[in-house]
Amino acid sequence: MFKKLLIANRGEIALRIHRACKEMGIETVAVHSTADENSMVVRLADESVCIGPPSAKDSYLNIPAILTAAAITGAEAIHPGYGFLSENAEFARMVEEHGFAFIGPKPEHIESMGDKVVAKETVAALGLPVVPGSEGALQSVEDAIKTAEEFGLPVIIKAASGGGGKGMKVVHDMKDVAEQYSTARSEAKANFGDDTVYMEKFLQKPRHIEIQVFGDGEGNGIHLGERDCSIQRRHQKVVEEGPSPVLTEELRDYIGGISADVVQKMGYRGAGTFEFLYEDGKFYFMEMNTRIQVEHPVTEMITGIDLVSEQIRVAAGLGLSINKEKIRLRGHAIEVRVNAENPKTFAPSPGKITEYHAPGGMGVRMDSAIYKGYSIPPYYDSMVGKLIVHGRNREECLRRLKRAIDETVIEGIQTTLPLHQWILSEPEFISGDYTIHWLEKKLAEMENN
Ligand code: ADP
Repeated sequence: MFKKLLIANRGEIALRIHRACKEMGIETVAVHSTADENSMVVRLADESVCIGPPSAKDSYLNIPAILTAAAITGAEAIHPGYGFLSENAEFARMVEEHGFAFIGPKPEHIESMGDKVVAKETVAALGLPVVPGSEGALQSVEDAIKTAEEFGLPVIIKAASGGGGKGMKVVHDMKDVAEQYSTARSEAKANFGDDTVYMEKFLQKPRHIEIQVFGDGEGNGIHLGERDCSIQRRHQKVVEEGPSPVLTEELRDYIGGISADVVQKMGYRGAGTFEFLYEDGKFYFMEMNTRIQVEHPVTEMITGIDLVSEQIRVAAGLGLSINKEKIRLRGHAIEVRVNAENPKTFAPSPGKITEYHAPGGMGVRMDSAIYKGYSIPPYYDSMVGKLIVHGRNREECLRRLKRAIDETVIEGIQTTLPLHQWILSEPEFISGDYTIHWLEKKLAEMENN
């Protein structure tokens, strides 16, 4: 096992990785920007190295600075967390070329799954059902119009290199296809440096259901059940739960089984997620995330397995400690994302936390790096924590989550906790009867009233 690991990230996920390391007897190196010198992980890590100014491109995306920090501290492995460099194949390759272990998939898999057009073609060839749409990338305006006619409106135009719910265009009217196609391309170019776009049928009432998978890189692969991430705003996840209220054991075995099969055929290494849309009993693959995800604690709560420590084990060549036959899904878990935002306008609300009391009690887990007196810098993502709750069943889980939010105190900044309290009181959410469009529709209705 590694003696020392460098954490190439910040915030709650950096702390999450530090925690796994400590439990495995591994020393940690935190790297940080000048804006993060007072962060919790910098305080707790065995060593820390400042790698640049606040702007992410000069610090958390600064590959030479990160590799140098690893070299001077004698770290043997680098964990990229999520976001930043986690799905940068070039970074993964450089980490390995410099003699460090990369805690993540093989660079070629990051690369192939990072291009969503290639990803769809690859997994379709290996047996996964995909969202109907253009064959590969769109080649021209004419191609876009022809494809939209063939599949019927509405359609969605997506960036091949896209992520974070950005740059997707839903088209409802044939006369808008040409314009949306060119807007999508220029936005894709500006955001992701690649103007390749593709088209899919826009599903009207799907759920977002994703399967957590793991491979050992040697042809063994498993799945750890699903997470339902249908509560979204602007194509971004707000609440995640597992198991999905709409899946039967049979459906889970089916989609989990073929996902694990693809992992084996790929010879995939480490943690990954297959994201599907689910409508009328059918699954449609959208993309694969080749990293640990924000919502991984949902799976940890219902399986009792520490996914970050499994990632580290696999990277160290020790294989998975999980035996497929022994995986049991127990009870229900829900995660709510705590963002430093106005809960109505969603405007960012960085600043100093003047009071903080974390919730506790049975089945309650708060993954956050905030503390009283901490100032949330304005330069990064607004997510400052995740509250995850486990119960024997969904009903108990809902009551526990409500209670846990009630006892949470975060003062000095605004957070999305009131939004979550409201979602939890909505009959459709309580009944489990919601689609990916539910939250936005509700928010729009409230705005109009
Ligand atoms: P990203 O990588 O940016 O997160 P995804 O491909 O995972 O992009 O899509 C994000 C979200 O966008 C999905 O969870 C879903 O809500 C919506 N979406 C994407 N494709 C479709 C589609 N074909 N039909 C309906 N909604 C879609």
